[in-house]
Amino acid sequence: MPEKILLHTCCAPCSIAIVEELRGQCDLTVFFYNPNVFPEAEYLKRKAEVISYCTDWGVPMVDCDYGFEAWETKVAPVPQEEENGSRCSACYRLRLAAAAEYARNHGFDRFASSLASGRTKKSAVINAIGRTVGREAGLPFLEKDWKKDGRMERGYALVAERGIYRQDYCGCRFSLADRDRRNGRAAGQPDGGPADK
Ligand code: SF4
Repeated sequence: MPEKILLHTCCAPCSIAIVEELRGQCDLTVFFYNPNVFPEAEYLKRKAEVISYCTDWGVPMVDCDYGFEAWETKVAPVPQEEENGSRCSACYRLRLAAAAEYARNHGFDRFASSLASGRTKKSAVINAIGRTVGREAGLPFLEKDWKKDGRMERGYALVAERGIYRQDYCGCRFSLADRDRRNGRAAGQPDGGPADK
């Protein structure tokens, strides 16, 4: 019987090449839990892209719904001393722990995440959190550097081919404010330039 893997998926650009690769190798399910994304319209936009390719490829997807309050309570108050700092670690942990728990409760063999495939994300940090929450849940975390072996390039190609929306900020309200500061834009104004996470 093929191995059952649950892939926590942050967005379509980060996950599509991973899903393309894994769907032929195992019994794959995509898990969408991203209460960090703000505002809700952006959350729905990112989720719609994941639903779209999962539907086309016949890959089952678990939609955990928004749950923004969980992020506001557990992650937003954590101080961020540097880019990719403690708040980001708490944000990864919230999402990966939910994936580990779901995977354990639904008969999966392992769980994984597309989080580390983001261009600015540190695989070592995300993999360490994956290992920890996996140990706590009693389920192994599939560890890989998803940026390697041509996967990033394949992801870019699939995004271009399918015309997938590419966001230009990580997701939370803090990263949105940073994006607006960088671009000299007043908060809340629509995107103008090319997207890059
Ligand atoms: S910057 Fe990204 S990883 Fe860090 S807290 Fe915000 S959404 Fe989460």
